[in-house]
Amino acid sequence: MRIGFLGLGAIGRPMASHLVDHDLIVWNRTTSVARTFAAQHGVQWADTPRALAHQVDAAITCLPTSAEVAAVLWGPDGMAEGLAPDSLVVDCTSGDPAESRRMAGNLAERGIRFVDAPVSGGTNGAEAGTLTVMVGGTDEAYARAAVILSAFASRVEHMGPVGAGHALKSVNQALLATNILALGEGLAALVKVGVPAARAVQVLNASSGRSFVSERLIPDRVLSGAWPATFRLALLDKDTSIALAVLEEAGIRGPVLHRVGELLHQARNQLGEEADYLEAIKLYEREAGVEIRE
Ligand code: NDP
Repeated sequence: MRIGFLGLGAIGRPMASHLVDHDLIVWNRTTSVARTFAAQHGVQWADTPRALAHQVDAAITCLPTSAEVAAVLWGPDGMAEGLAPDSLVVDCTSGDPAESRRMAGNLAERGIRFVDAPVSGGTNGAEAGTLTVMVGGTDEAYARAAVILSAFASRVEHMGPVGAGHALKSVNQALLATNILALGEGLAALVKVGVPAARAVQVLNASSGRSFVSERLIPDRVLSGAWPATFRLALLDKDTSIALAVLEEAGIRGPVLHRVGELLHQARNQLGEEADYLEAIKLYEREAGVEIRE
């Protein structure tokens, strides 16, 4: 099977590197990134999404939002005109379920299948090939996509029709954001009242308030002072907005997640488009005049 991969960003690049043993063609908006990847891995690169589409049976997109996915499908030199009937689009973007349903409907008119297949596990999981993928689509499209997705995932789950994967991913991200902000507030307060941060985290992690954020992210990235840039806060803000749209569609008021969404949006405005998602915690450190460090 000839596979195309579009979007060699922070997570797309390590995902695509697990597909280099296939007949792989890559495309990236900044062409030099695609060229370098192709040279490093001995695969092909294309200079437009359309050129890529002419050569593949399946195309994987991993772009910031559904808007960029729509643009690489239907914009100038877009893929939709180039993909053969019965080819497959696998959208690994953390996208918008309503947009995905619309795109799937438009592609179906050309006989092209679509699955939404957002991933969880971060850049470390992508490098290790241990991502979790949440897929929305028909049984037949899921079966075809799962074969490809298992190259970089240890868990590929079919969640329902198109949009189900993106809906689940957005709620996951809203929960992640809730944990980050709540831990930022709580830990800043504890340090301020004299509880050592590392000891507080150790004991929380042996108690009922623990989470992935307290067990993994805070020790590895915050207490250590490492603060690596792996996932943009702007993208987490986008994810939480999608979750709020899912709640609205379901008729759920969602005061908790709405407040989290507002706070994330403020943090994005304060810290900028390139800030890492965990940097939201720095705002609480500043407010309390403390550092959450070992
Ligand atoms: P990055 O910002 O690192 O990369 C974005 C990619 O999209 C780059 O290849 C960029 O190209 C391309 N791009 C940006 N704008 C456009 C455009 N207008 N047209 C075409 N291509 C464009 O994002 P990530 O790799 O971190 O994230 C990609 C997706 O994966 C997002 O939906 C994100 O929410 C999700 N995700 C990310 C995770 C992470 O840990 N980073 C974890 C799980 C999901 P260029 O090189 O030209 O800038």
